Amino acid sequence: MARGEGSYLYDTEERRYVDFCAGIATCCLGHCHPAVVQALTEQAGKLMHCSNLYGIPGQEKLAKLIVEDIIGIPGQVFFANSGAESNDGIIKVARRFGHRRPAADGSPRYEVITFNKSFHGRTLGSMAATGQRKIQVEFDPLLVGFKYVDFNDMAALRAAISPQTCGIMLEAVQGEGGVNPVQPEFLRGVAQLCKEHDLLLMVDEVQCGFCRCGATMGWKAVCPEVQPDLVSCAKGIGGGFPMGCFWVSNRAIDGQGTPLSSIMGAGSHGSTFGGTPIAVATSYAVVSELVQGAYHERAQRLGEYVKNTVEGWHIPCVTGVRGLGLLRGVGLDKDKFRNPLPEGMTPAGYVNNLCREAGLLACPAGPDTLRLIPALNIPAETLDEGLSILLGVLEMA
Ligand SMILES: *Cc1c(COP(=O)(O)O)cnc(C)c1O
Repeated sequence: MARGEGSYLYDTEERRYVDFCAGIATCCLGHCHPAVVQALTEQAGKLMHCSNLYGIPGQEKLAKLIVEDIIGIPGQVFFANSGAESNDGIIKVARRFGHRRPAADGSPRYEVITFNKSFHGRTLGSMAATGQRKIQVEFDPLLVGFKYVDFNDMAALRAAISPQTCGIMLEAVQGEGGVNPVQPEFLRGVAQLCKEHDLLLMVDEVQCGFCRCGATMGWKAVCPEVQPDLVSCAKGIGGGFPMGCFWVSNRAIDGQGTPLSSIMGAGSHGSTFGGTPIAVATSYAVVSELVQGAYHERAQRLGEYVKNTVEGWHIPCVTGVRGLGLLRGVGLDKDKFRNPLPEGMTPAGYVNNLCREAGLLACPAGPDTLRLIPALNIPAETLDEGLSILLGVLEMA
């Protein structure tokens, strides 16, 4: 690829593609959004990096915006560079919490329960948290302290809690694992179990956050009343610029009123590049545009449109459209294609390749799901242009 313009990408031969991938759900305002380009280039001429040894006003400004207008619950923010790093951060907070709030026998709690088909990243910590064996193969031994249970299975989750458990970690919509939304009653049940067992509710909003799923955060699109303790963010937060953060609630963890956010004091965690002046200036431009433009409402509306349109085609190989907002997965049935699948190819990989040849960029999510994650500001006519390419591909596949 050579350049981008809104929801179009152009390759080195100047071939144009409709972009329903958006840098894997990162370029939430499309390519080269003028306000984002302006913020980035202006800051590049002022100060790119100076380290967190000094106060950075842009960090404070962005943290306030995220706490007040995106998360909406009092807390503090730590800036990182990626989703995996942000998840490592919340795993560290959970482990420290397990030391401060030990098991009945006085031993520190350290175990985090995550879910099958989850995806949390590729570092040693976030890979161990990921409930997909294919991500971990031949990297054993894994970091200890994770247990995986089936998503949306309350009985299995309840049975998995042990005296060592200190947290439960989930995505509101499993992105990489096939676009599987959490059921509202399950999310409410998880929050309840966390209260009963003194566990941290850890939400990975790396893919489903920042207005993508029809609310400012993915969990709020499912159960706005649920209050997580820890939230990890990346992808959309930077609009394509590498950026991440994690949020820690100010809620009291004991009878003395100790805020959860206070247990990671200065020196407990760090990042040389986390929250550089250029990253926070760029991210501020992205997030303030998302908030001011109420892009979560647009994502909700366009997402319903995508679902209704694709399901309305009644194509035999399409099993349905899952997801929330503009995080959508088209389910594919390998036995209902017109043509035999090429050797060694998954249904999603096959359809994704055909789309690309036809001028549409999408993204597989697991073997049977084609993920549609366009920019949240994609014009209605560009969305229709991409959908008609998809229709042509699915009719012939
Ligand atoms: C992409 C993703 C990550 C990993 O983010 P990186 O920036 O690639 O490290 C973690 N969690 C979820 C839900 C993701 O979609």
